[in-house]
Amino acid sequence: MSQPVLEETRNLSLSADEVLKLRADFPVLRQQVYGKPLVYLDNAATTQKPQVVIDRITDYYSHENGTVRRGVYKLSEQSTLAFDESRRKVARLLNAPSAAEVIFTRGTTEAINLVASSYGRAFIGAGDEIIVSAIEHHANIVPWQQLCLEKGAILKVIPVNDDGELIQDAYEALLSERTRLVAIGHVSNALGTINPVKAMIEKAHAVGAVVLVDGAQSTPHMQVDVQELDCDFFAFSGHKLYGPTGIGVLYGKMKQLEAMPPYQCGGDMIHSVSFEKTVFAKPPAKFEAGTPAIAEVIALGSAIDYLQAIGLGRIGAYEHELLQYATERISEIPEVRLIGTANEKAGILSFTIKGAHPHDIGTILDREGIAVRAGHHCAQPVMERFHVPATARASFSFYNTREDVDALIRAIHVVIQLFS
Ligand code: PMP
Repeated sequence: MSQPVLEETRNLSLSADEVLKLRADFPVLRQQVYGKPLVYLDNAATTQKPQVVIDRITDYYSHENGTVRRGVYKLSEQSTLAFDESRRKVARLLNAPSAAEVIFTRGTTEAINLVASSYGRAFIGAGDEIIVSAIEHHANIVPWQQLCLEKGAILKVIPVNDDGELIQDAYEALLSERTRLVAIGHVSNALGTINPVKAMIEKAHAVGAVVLVDGAQSTPHMQVDVQELDCDFFAFSGHKLYGPTGIGVLYGKMKQLEAMPPYQCGGDMIHSVSFEKTVFAKPPAKFEAGTPAIAEVIALGSAIDYLQAIGLGRIGAYEHELLQYATERISEIPEVRLIGTANEKAGILSFTIKGAHPHDIGTILDREGIAVRAGHHCAQPVMERFHVPATARASFSFYNTREDVDALIRAIHVVIQLFS
């Protein structure tokens, strides 16, 4: 169960009035679904966009569109300035030592694939071991599994206890001088578990392994500091961080990025090309072949400004209170089974209801105006571990309220009545 909010963090939280004001920044939330006010609780899948992000994209295409890095004319120069500024905003968000360590990708999936393809192909060989956990998203399993198949390397899996917490003793037992890479999620998208990544990174480094952290579910809910974590790689998606789809980030330590071969080849990633020889550009350009997602990068910068003006610490504290309230309310319903009861959790409630398939739960909740995810959440091994085919998942944002939770609870009772 989630822990009580400490007094200091309560002071940091958002007030009900502030939440209502912030909620008004999201035009999508103003609609009705089947005659009921929309209650959007699928924030782990993607978050809604504040007006400033939407406006930034419209403004860019209305007044500023020009390709980056190449043009000598005003539009291109301005686009390049805004594009580069976004990279610095990401570096500040993650507390990366340098903006050159921030690579733009299409999302978390591409960021992880980049490391698996580039670092993996160059530095992982037959008999080497890669460690993932039992609660990873498929995006942090399949690229490593395929790399292992290609290279004859071995995939090891950290087991999870009944609360959805990684078993640290088992992790330590898996680590050895054969471990080349550890790939772990910061926060589980299926269970909400916050993994103790800092301590896990330290242990991996002690055996000489590098660590990739999948930050898709942590960046929207907490202040991340890649220097404090000391991770080698960190990946996240813009669309889960109130920014556009099609844009994401890979942070990598410069010494790793410099040693790695390019992931894709083409324009923009070269220093010079002749038919005899190509000299690659330095990171980050080395990993950004082709015309980038310019408007998306710039609008991601606006999303970061928006979140930092609220404060990620306050967002996390408020969401923690909301999770605690939702956990208490849902735990009162005997027909509901919560999957994922870790001590440290972000705002995710995965559950099943006795006698009802999660897809039916999702459909009935939708008719009540409530958007939740139903399925395996791209984490089939988690479903297997907890012996369920799927779960319904409510995931919270700072724009959700206690009234949203109350609406969810009422709709769960509708499901129970229909299936009992
Ligand atoms: N990892 C985690 C933990 C996720 O929740 C997700 C998205 N559900 C991903 C990776 C993949 O992110 P994307 O689809 O944006 O690449």
